[in-house]
Amino acid sequence: MVAVNNREKCLYCGGCVSVCPVMAIELKETQIVIDKDKCINCGACVRVCPVGAMEVKK
Ligand code: SF4
Ligand code: SF4
Repeated sequence: MVAVNNREKCLYCGGCVSVCPVMAIELKETQIVIDKDKCINCGACVRVCPVGAMEVKK
């Protein structure tokens, strides 16, 4: 299981980046990059996203 970003919905607001407890999310100009090895599937990024652009998937 790992967090996945939907590029069509994402506003690149950075909200998910700041709540991730293990700093697995990086905001690049037009891309959210998630480090699969760091992600602990806590769901914080999913809960904070205002547009539902984050999902935890298998
Ligand atoms: S919180 Fe949602 S909209 Fe904001 S950067 Fe993260 S995935 Fe994108
Ligand atoms: S599910 Fe948790 S650990 Fe994984 S990217 Fe989102 S906030 Fe970070």
